[in-house]
Amino acid sequence: MRLKDKVALITGAASGIGREIAEAYAAEGAKICIADLKLEAGQAAADDIVKSGGTAMAVEMDVTDEAAVNTGVAATVDAFGGVDVLISNAGIQHISRLIDLEFSAWKKLLAIHLDGAFLTTKACMRVMKDAGKGGSIILMGSAHSKVASPLKAPYVTAKHGLLGLARAIAVEGAEFGVRSNVICPGFVRTSLVEKQIPEQARNLGITEEQVVNDVMLKDTVDGEFSTLDDIAETAVFLAAFPTNALTGQSIVVSHGWFME
Ligand code: NAD
Repeated sequence: MRLKDKVALITGAASGIGREIAEAYAAEGAKICIADLKLEAGQAAADDIVKSGGTAMAVEMDVTDEAAVNTGVAATVDAFGGVDVLISNAGIQHISRLIDLEFSAWKKLLAIHLDGAFLTTKACMRVMKDAGKGGSIILMGSAHSKVASPLKAPYVTAKHGLLGLARAIAVEGAEFGVRSNVICPGFVRTSLVEKQIPEQARNLGITEEQVVNDVMLKDTVDGEFSTLDDIAETAVFLAAFPTNALTGQSIVVSHGWFME
């Protein structure tokens, strides 16, 4: 058990990558708070973990809402006694050419990825500081933290921004024993990706198969998607790392799409 009795708050954990990390952390002995937009969806994910013998709760949290973030973090501390690991994972995608992009869509995407990471970090880092035990803050970046693709201007911008936030957390968190790192997945077949395949096909005037092979997986070394398990295993590694030597870093899990 690599995370025995650690408390982990994971945003956007009702589905996809966040949910897989929640299950992997629970299997390693962590107590999980699933934070997502709809309480029922988060509760269903938490119930599944409990059925498998783990410990989990759910809170309703829109990560762009400061009051909701603070209430959710406080509920986690009330239930489990603290927060040792934050995974800021909630996210959306928006496919549009930059010249057609609505300002409202730009602002919404940046708010979920960047305001959400900031607000949850601020609330959890205060808890970690007061507890005096340090902690690990993991931000869900993307290969798009390193490279740009067409039709994804706000996503590319936000994911690049998270690298800066992680470095800022690393330098200010050191005083409290808090480290921060970014996981940068390549394409993983979650609902976020399934939704954009037809959208990209329409925008680029190509087939869905071409989107998968000639756009999404074109620059990988082996033409393969990354898996939920690949990302969850990386998240376990980062949270379980025994010292704060690894801080302010980003790890790209993308079948070689981007190489540092
Ligand atoms: P997903 O759509 O399966 O899950 C995203 C979750 O975030 C959902 O449960 C959704 O309800 C939640 N969410 C959205 N807005 C929210 C808000 N305002 N407050 C709280 N929760 C909110 O997608 P996923 O692929 O699992 O994505 C998870 C993260 O991984 C995102 O940050 C995404 O950018 C990142 N990512 C995904 C891929 C991929 O290929 N799937 C690749 C790189 C990075």
